[in-house]
Amino acid sequence: MAEMTAEEARSRAEALRQEIEHNTYLYYALDAPEISDAAYDSLMRELKALEERFPELATLDSPTKRVGGYVERQFQPIRHASRMYSLDNAMDEEELAAWMDGIVRLYGFLPELCCELKIDGSSLAVTYRDGLLVQAATRGDGTTGEDVTANVMGVKDIPHALSPSAKEALANPDAPLELRGEIYMPKASFDALNLEAEAEGKKPFANPRNAAAGSLRQKDPKITAERDLATFMYSVSDTRAIQVPGQWELLRWLESAGFHVNPDVRLCHTEDEVLAFCRECLRRRDGLAYDIDGVVVKVNDFALQEEAGFTSRAPKWAMAFKFPPEEKTTRLLDITVQVGRTGVLTPVAELEPVQVAGSVVARATLHNEDEVHRKDVRIGDTVIVRKAGDVIPEVLGPVLSLRPEDAHVWQAPKVCPSCGMPVVKEEGEAQLRCVSIDCPAQAHERLLHWVSRDAMDIDGMGDEIIARLVEIGRANDVADFYSLTVEELEQLHTGRVNKEGKPVTLGRTTAEKLVSAIQDSKERDLSRVLVGLGIRHVGKNTAAEIVEAYPSMEALKDASEEDLKGIYGIGDSAAASIWSFLRTPDNVDVIQRLERAGVSMAVKRAEGDAKPQSLKGLTFVLTGTLGELGMSRDEASQALKGYGAKVSSSVSSKTSYVAVGENPGSKYDKAVKLGVPVLDEQQLKAVLDTGEPPVL
Ligand code: AMP
Repeated sequence: MAEMTAEEARSRAEALRQEIEHNTYLYYALDAPEISDAAYDSLMRELKALEERFPELATLDSPTKRVGGYVERQFQPIRHASRMYSLDNAMDEEELAAWMDGIVRLYGFLPELCCELKIDGSSLAVTYRDGLLVQAATRGDGTTGEDVTANVMGVKDIPHALSPSAKEALANPDAPLELRGEIYMPKASFDALNLEAEAEGKKPFANPRNAAAGSLRQKDPKITAERDLATFMYSVSDTRAIQVPGQWELLRWLESAGFHVNPDVRLCHTEDEVLAFCRECLRRRDGLAYDIDGVVVKVNDFALQEEAGFTSRAPKWAMAFKFPPEEKTTRLLDITVQVGRTGVLTPVAELEPVQVAGSVVARATLHNEDEVHRKDVRIGDTVIVRKAGDVIPEVLGPVLSLRPEDAHVWQAPKVCPSCGMPVVKEEGEAQLRCVSIDCPAQAHERLLHWVSRDAMDIDGMGDEIIARLVEIGRANDVADFYSLTVEELEQLHTGRVNKEGKPVTLGRTTAEKLVSAIQDSKERDLSRVLVGLGIRHVGKNTAAEIVEAYPSMEALKDASEEDLKGIYGIGDSAAASIWSFLRTPDNVDVIQRLERAGVSMAVKRAEGDAKPQSLKGLTFVLTGTLGELGMSRDEASQALKGYGAKVSSSVSSKTSYVAVGENPGSKYDKAVKLGVPVLDEQQLKAVLDTGEPPVL
């Protein structure tokens, strides 16, 4: 090292940092180190030595300055270096032409326009300091995004370091640089991911955009790293940082820095060229490996961009030309009927699977009987399918010229397809309804609703298990969940068979987890119970308003219909439905059985609120391991705080008690020195059991 020049040292330090960052990430975030601990330490030592010898290399963010490896900052808010704007939309060619006319009026001429594909993914901002990737954030509200650094470190096409030549070209190579682009999931990877999810009985993603956003925002960076995420970068927080005159040149710089830049870009000089590019992209859309939802047209010259400025949400120098929602034709194979938890019968179009706007559509709701006839769709028809809002598939109507001879009109069922009881159509309602209380389909939906995320959030209790429980008559209503045992669940058939053709049972571990999730749900807030019971017109927000006014089931049962109407945000129909729900014998019975099973029927107060504040004014310090107590220090201090006590980390003359476990530290000595009363674990236990100050 003796003969190293400053320049050689700088480049060696850079290489070392890259290598260390990469391995720190592999080690801490992925638990998958590529080099031995000793080799890692040796790299770190070499970097430290270099930094000591050339102090100008010792940057603040050097791995040598970091304590304890990888910084876990998942989902912390991050302020963007400058606002991340949205884009204004032109919904058709006319609107786009009108915007370009406005541009001509603004400048007095039509400037060069840089046209790019509008990638349908999730916006991403990545920050480089001293040429190294140090931070990544989602767009969030535009001003503040979420910290997804740990996850982005595992996205392979984002370089961990800028190429030296691109870095040198910067106005200030040492200043932090925030670059922006789109993170997306290729269509093929999305399909594969969903196939895998299906095989594992998990919920598939709605489209590649959701899959990309969901994969990016994983708690566990390992999962993100396993997903096939890719990026196209196209922007920078401050164009002055990169010494280029315009967007086209920025894209070239991004490429030279090591980023993926979308190859379908065109610098256009006339309105016709722009429109031709848009049409071309629309035609080629299906053949691309990733989803796009339009074309973004940007004034190329940065100086001209600055002249145009921004509205409150979008640049005035750019416009997104949005493609029309994707429509496809396919065959209507059948119309089946789904029974909802309130007994509503919904006709569902069973389609020959077709790829629409990024995902395969095989079913679409037809809403109700009238809708089927109004659209005149017949079984056997070729129908046009569209994704409304690019998420929910919709049948627009038949292609009449392709109607086969044997296409037949669907007849609404007279009886419920699940329980066989006659269905009714109530006055003023478009829907058919099954009013039987013993309908298995309704029971299934009600059970599914009870365990759903906005209700009791019972993890692991999925569609399949519920279907089996209903089938064997073990779960007829939601109260039945609470008597399920590990022994019976472990033997429950999943409905699947293994390779040898034998039925697969849930197994001990899953059964144990499930029972524990069910038990945990007993502590949920009353508002969740109300959502879970599936009272008509009572969703999450309504339930929150109800429990604000009536914090217990007891109080709610006593409320009259008039009282209920007085609750903020509760309309006449919701009030009537709550009132009658709580007086229907079957519901009364379910609620009573839930109560008996120990399901909380009151508003959950914040930790400690319900307990007497009998330790208020006392300050405790905990030291040593609380082995006998069977609690961590954290749990013990939470419990003390629950009784109103303060828990401090240092001993002073103001400390009321120091509770001492095994191997106490210096806090014990200090307590003795200051004459602060000391509690052993037994005495602390007595305090926690009774909530009373210790008797010494
Ligand atoms: P929207 O989400 O409809 O407001 O559209 C704005 C978003 O389009 C931006 O926040 C970007 O995430 C995204 N976008 C995709 N491709 C591009 C592109 N080539 N240039 C600018 N924005 C893009």
